[in-house]
Amino acid sequence: MSFLNGKTALVTGSTSGIGLGVATELAAAGVRIAVHSLPGDAQAEAAVAAMKEAGAPDAKFFGADVSNPDAIRAMIEEVEAWGPIDILVNNAGIQHTAGITDMPDAKWDAIIAINLSSCFHTMKAVLPLMESRGYGRIVNIASVHGLVASVEKVPYVAAKHGLVGMSKVVALEYASKGDPAKGAITVNCIAPGFTETPLIESQIQAAAGRAGGDRDAGIAELLKEKQPSLRMTQTSELGALAVFLCGMAAQNLTGTTIPVDGGWTAQ
Ligand code: NAD
Repeated sequence: MSFLNGKTALVTGSTSGIGLGVATELAAAGVRIAVHSLPGDAQAEAAVAAMKEAGAPDAKFFGADVSNPDAIRAMIEEVEAWGPIDILVNNAGIQHTAGITDMPDAKWDAIIAINLSSCFHTMKAVLPLMESRGYGRIVNIASVHGLVASVEKVPYVAAKHGLVGMSKVVALEYASKGDPAKGAITVNCIAPGFTETPLIESQIQAAAGRAGGDRDAGIAELLKEKQPSLRMTQTSELGALAVFLCGMAAQNLTGTTIPVDGGWTAQ
């Protein structure tokens, strides 16, 4: 039996993209998965089935709009009633690209609420529960944009830099809490570079437009500009890193932000 077998993870935004990839790798490690997205997400049923197929002992969908703190708190209570939240992966996120003067105020508010404030509310709710049980893992899906900037991403870069900073504070506050024999409590960020998911589709389409309408040429353009490996990060690779962070071998690995970005932030 692996260390993670039978533990429970809440992965926010796990019906699509990176969240789905991370949840699938955790499921394959024997973790029960609380699949989460917006209420009524048409991909929810398929995601729950995919978790069971991957090896999760159990999986269930929990819908909540994470821009609403009350909805977050109610969802955490529901998940806890289903199984103790041993692992929290804060992944749900949105993007909108525009220069600062063209950025709608509503987009600023939504990106800060969903990509940053939601992580404050989920962590605040689960950490006392994790502390009482001795083990806890928080994996925050930040971004290279938590470490460096790009134009036309004011709210996104602000939110992701905020998430990196917030994660360091929480890691320090919980560094000596929990039970080392059970794995203690750690808080880390994963900082993906370009990963092909619906979130970056509009950026791919814009680059494809500049490259004569060819989608592959658009992807190549995006990568050439930022990601020296010239390869997209795969969601399963981010999942494999999350599985490592949740394991016993990572019990003293806390407060870090790990880029998986083909060299983007090494430049
Ligand atoms: P995605 O669009 O494929 O998935 C986003 C998920 O979040 C979906 O399940 C969606 O329903 C959910 N979600 C969005 N708003 C929500 C809300 N208000 N309430 C509840 N659920 C909500 O996007 P993705 O690329 O997989 O992004 C996942 C995370 O990875 C995000 O935090 C994003 O910033 C980060 N990220 C993505 C990339 C990339 O290149 N794709 C790079 C770096 C970081």
